[in-house]
Amino acid sequence: MDVKKVLEEKNVDVLRFTYVGLDGIIRSKGAHVSVVNDMIRTGIGLSKAMLSYTPMDRISPYGSFGPEDEDVFLVPDVGTLSVFPPSAVVLCDLYYGNSPWEIDPRSSLKRSLKRAREELGLEFRSSFELEFYLIKDRKPLDSGVCFDSSSFYDNQVIEEIVNLSRDVGIQPLRIMKEYGPGQFEIDILHKEALRSADEVVLFKEVARQVARRHGVEANFMPKPFNRLAGSGLHLNLSAWRGGRNAFYNPTDRYGMSELAYGFIAGIMEHAKALTALVAPTVNSYKRLVPGSWAPTKIAYGYNNKSAMLRIPTPYPGVEGEDRRVEFRVPDPSSNPYLAILATIEAGLDGVERGLKPQPPVDENVYARGDVPDVPRNLREALTELKRDTKLMDRVGRKLVEEFIKVKTAEVEEYESLVTDWEYEVYSRV
Ligand code: GLU
Ligand code: MG
Ligand code: MG
Repeated sequence: MDVKKVLEEKNVDVLRFTYVGLDGIIRSKGAHVSVVNDMIRTGIGLSKAMLSYTPMDRISPYGSFGPEDEDVFLVPDVGTLSVFPPSAVVLCDLYYGNSPWEIDPRSSLKRSLKRAREELGLEFRSSFELEFYLIKDRKPLDSGVCFDSSSFYDNQVIEEIVNLSRDVGIQPLRIMKEYGPGQFEIDILHKEALRSADEVVLFKEVARQVARRHGVEANFMPKPFNRLAGSGLHLNLSAWRGGRNAFYNPTDRYGMSELAYGFIAGIMEHAKALTALVAPTVNSYKRLVPGSWAPTKIAYGYNNKSAMLRIPTPYPGVEGEDRRVEFRVPDPSSNPYLAILATIEAGLDGVERGLKPQPPVDENVYARGDVPDVPRNLREALTELKRDTKLMDRVGRKLVEEFIKVKTAEVEEYESLVTDWEYEVYSRV
């Protein structure tokens, strides 16, 4: 593909070579159109330390790497080229020498999908439900309630986000005013798993650009406001074999196959450790509170939105295609490649060990004291992840160890800071 020509035709000057850090932050290095084809051929060098957020004033970085370490390379996957003027983005894998860097989540997801294809004959499809807030001057953009019709005609921003995301090949299916004021949800059509993760990155980029042009912020943090709904990134997964949905069995009570139950059992088994990887920020755990429709309990159920895993009621007429599991713990602060990779590896562990889940739960599970909790904070989740060496090995030992290092530094920094709440409550003691 002559990328230079494509950019010139659309009057775009800079192509962003984009990747997602272990901390979930989308980062890019730019190449000018005049040299873009050369840069695509060689890749662009990148400091290893740039895999995670490290405040400049810290002597030691959050992760293992510093200014003394050799570069890795951003190697573009040209098929992901997405032009949404004035922006153009190409998503990249990180290479160390001639091979994918083992700490790179995107290449690691590719490796895992390849193994599932070659050894198990399975192709994973996934779709994300993206919840986010539109914010102006640190306040929600509107005062709409859930599904409020007026939020549609009030605001151009959502319409433009949807249109521009279609221009980059994303197919938004459902567009909703979510529960919180200024909160929206876009559900994206399911696709091959790698593309589905790519689309989360592209969607965020598109949404931020549109919002900013309207003087608004598109905010994807899990819990931006006290006492208002949090934002999730529910992950729907199905596994396909020979063009058929291998999670489907029409004779089962819930329409699910043995494979699907094994997959569910694997996610249940690794749920605590998995939580660290899919709800990876301090802020994530302020979303996971009882009654919020975000999960707090390790349970699955048929169309039960209080459970961590849901088997959604399929759409009529397409029951076979639509069978899937919806994992409700993930939130938009996660690295989408790592979230899919970890969830698939947890599920496949259940499949490969022939695990069977307990029966599903069909009542509201928030108040059930006998059902185990998902971890209550990031520190607890990281401790669980460290213990789950099987999941660590399946996801990639080096990758997970680096993730734990970065995230532990994050928790420690957070825990060392004095908040306004503490000052208000404790200055009287
Ligand atoms: N906002 C909820 C969450 O954080 C989900 C609401 C819904 O069921 O769509 O997961
Ligand atoms: Mg929702
Ligand atoms: Mg959902």
